Amino acid sequence: MDIQAALLRDVHADFSIETVQLDTPQADEVLVEVVATGLCHTDLAVRDGVFPIPAMPNILGHEGAGVVVATGSSVRKLKVGDHVALSFASCGACPSCEAGSPAHCDNFLPANFLGRRPDGSCTHHQHGQEINACFFGQSSFASHALVKERHAVKVPGDVPLELLGPLGCGIQTGAGTILNHLKPSPGSSVAIFGAGAVGLSAVMAAKIAGCATIIAVDVQPARLVLAQELGATHVINGREADAVARIKEITGAGVDFVVEATGVPQVVAQSIRCGRRMGQVALLGMGKMDAALPLVLGDLMTGVVIRYVIEGDSVPETFIPQLIDYYRQGRFPFDRLIEFYELDNINDAVRDTEAGRTIKPVIRMPRRSTQTRGDRQ
Ligand SMILES: [Zn+2]
Ligand SMILES: [Zn+2]
Repeated sequence: MDIQAALLRDVHADFSIETVQLDTPQADEVLVEVVATGLCHTDLAVRDGVFPIPAMPNILGHEGAGVVVATGSSVRKLKVGDHVALSFASCGACPSCEAGSPAHCDNFLPANFLGRRPDGSCTHHQHGQEINACFFGQSSFASHALVKERHAVKVPGDVPLELLGPLGCGIQTGAGTILNHLKPSPGSSVAIFGAGAVGLSAVMAAKIAGCATIIAVDVQPARLVLAQELGATHVINGREADAVARIKEITGAGVDFVVEATGVPQVVAQSIRCGRRMGQVALLGMGKMDAALPLVLGDLMTGVVIRYVIEGDSVPETFIPQLIDYYRQGRFPFDRLIEFYELDNINDAVRDTEAGRTIKPVIRMPRRSTQTRGDRQ
């Protein structure tokens, strides 16, 4: 079938809205009419060649939400008309997947970055030429996506579907790092470096977890104001103050838990220095893969425990509905991070997020089928 998609034709290029042809669902796939999809920093890191992907052109996008419009012959969990949020792909068969850690799937790279299905077949074509897609198992910068049933998460029909895509990556990464990985006990302290969509999701989750001290560090005053509104008890402008010294001043011995969401080497080093003895640091930032960290051995002698956390250690099928419950309870107002753009304006969304004007851009797709029109105002 013909679909509209935002193609990336070259490294650093603008996205180009074009018509491409999408395959029919295989047995374990569903066809999703995409309602909206978040723009995540990983999309831009891939666009810029920071993270390797197959040859151009490519269709990116990995925070899709939409409506199931067709199902493959072996699909049992989903049916036509279901609302779904799309998350990262995992194989379901390796030791990590079987142990309940799909974000650390042994096949994470081929499942999400191969450009085609795990069996090597290509899902998208244009004038008979193959287009690389299957990005995070979805390539949702498009009006439609083909997705394995395994990573399409059924969501309630009464929550605005156009909000829900970012739960599949950026927002579950920040919130899951707190709630699934660090699991701070009530009353503990946490510092969060970077108050973008990931960091602010961590702030909201730290409040849900009952942290008594929640310190947000960023260089943009507007983001620090929002961090306070979402639950930060203290904010530090990293341009104006020495964040490590200020965190030690606030906490005395250093902070119990740290979330580093910037990927900037100097900030990563700061995040490792500001913890108390035996404190825990979760690294999430997507930076240059070969960047060296400005650390010395003595920085590690506090016994600090450091782990890079992928996708918030989430099992999307259970964690996304949990986040939606918190949203309904008014405890996780992630909609405050979102600004909407139409597909034709996707390059404006990129510019606004790169300039720091928008925290979480969400791209709305043009709607065609009558079946799904009623759910959008
Ligand atoms: Zn796996
Ligand atoms: Zn992402």
